[in-house]
Amino acid sequence: MSVVPPSALGEPCVLLKLGEVVLKGKNRELFERRLQANIKSALKGFDVRADVRQRHGVIAILLPDGTSVDVADAVAERLTDVMGLVWIHRAWRVAKDPDAVTAAALELVAGRTELIERRATFAVRSRRRDKRFPLRSNELDRVVGGEINDKYGLPVRLKNPELTVHIEVDRDEVFVFTDGLPGHGGLPVGISGRGLVLMSGGIDSPVAAYRMLRRGLSVDFLHFSGIPFTTSESIYKAYALVRKLSKFQDRARLFVVPFGKAQQSLRSSGADRLQVVAQRRLMLKTAEEVAHRLRRDVLVTGDSLGQVSSQTLQNLTALDDAVAMPILRPLIGMDKTEIMAEARRIGTLAISELPDEDCCTLLAPRRAETRARIADLRQIEKRLDAEELAVQLAASIQEYKLDDPA
Ligand code: ATP
Ligand code: MG
Repeated sequence: MSVVPPSALGEPCVLLKLGEVVLKGKNRELFERRLQANIKSALKGFDVRADVRQRHGVIAILLPDGTSVDVADAVAERLTDVMGLVWIHRAWRVAKDPDAVTAAALELVAGRTELIERRATFAVRSRRRDKRFPLRSNELDRVVGGEINDKYGLPVRLKNPELTVHIEVDRDEVFVFTDGLPGHGGLPVGISGRGLVLMSGGIDSPVAAYRMLRRGLSVDFLHFSGIPFTTSESIYKAYALVRKLSKFQDRARLFVVPFGKAQQSLRSSGADRLQVVAQRRLMLKTAEEVAHRLRRDVLVTGDSLGQVSSQTLQNLTALDDAVAMPILRPLIGMDKTEIMAEARRIGTLAISELPDEDCCTLLAPRRAETRARIADLRQIEKRLDAEELAVQLAASIQEYKLDDPA
């Protein structure tokens, strides 16, 4: 049901608080332009013509007159997925007149019946970005706070109030708002370059992807399936995970490599206790080849130091040796419990925990080597011409379009 706002509240809008973006000196313009483009693309599905305006350290999304509260709320909610934003506030845009500001503030409080009933504490916090406004910030705080106190009897508490009424005086208007939705912070996706995430069906790699998205990397995804020796379950999981993460960027692509036969060749070449590390090297070589084709500059994995035998320092060093392209490992210093908590927060954990047949457990030796020697790995790779095999595997990738029915 749509509710048209009472007139005292002015026009609905969404006010966005930027994080690090404002700190970026002369690159700032670039950052802001990217952020605005990402905001516009996030709002593509909405039937509102949003007017995105950059102010000092904030962005105001002006919605057309008569936009319902529900739509304004949905716009705010959608924008919580845009990286680079710290707070998303549903705000009211009113005339630059102390009476209009007071009226809007009173209306906002009036809507919070639950807080009024239990006489919750409140504070008013004003900021003037335009110093020509007739009242100074502290005067505005006192005037508006006094009116709220008179009308609703709520006690003022400046430290940790239960309700904060924010007033921001801008060049052309005043924004009045209460609580906001927290954003992810970080940097706008795309500003840091383009990466390729090695995406298993597990818990770690989606979190690694999220962390790099939050640092402004746009990413495509590459999954290795044990097919034809495993079922397709791991592909479905990778697909569902990529889909879950797709809200953070404009376009996400998933590519799948049928890897089972290559794993078998490694075994036939006597990989033995080195099987797992040798497989991971072949994955990286293939990923590097795919990255070149997709014009991606960096690989991303969910490795965390010491988590499993393939992630000892010595084995990670042996993995780095397989490719020239840099490998980003954003989870390297995180504990499994921390990674799981983050996976839960971003909504990927439940998908990752579904059962599947991971290609890595296929053909895994009973005792895996924890101190792989690079010379031994290269020896194995020479026997089956791993470089050529990686090129063939890269040529065999299949794209899973995200809007295809899974
Ligand atoms: P997760 O599977 O969530 O990453 P894990 O603890 O199982 O965690 P490993 O299996 O050792 O980790 O894999 C480490 C990293 O190697 C993964 O985070 C991922 O980036 C990459 N990787 C492993 N298996 C695959 C796969 N089948 N397809 C793509 N990448 C993979
Ligand atoms: Mg795994």
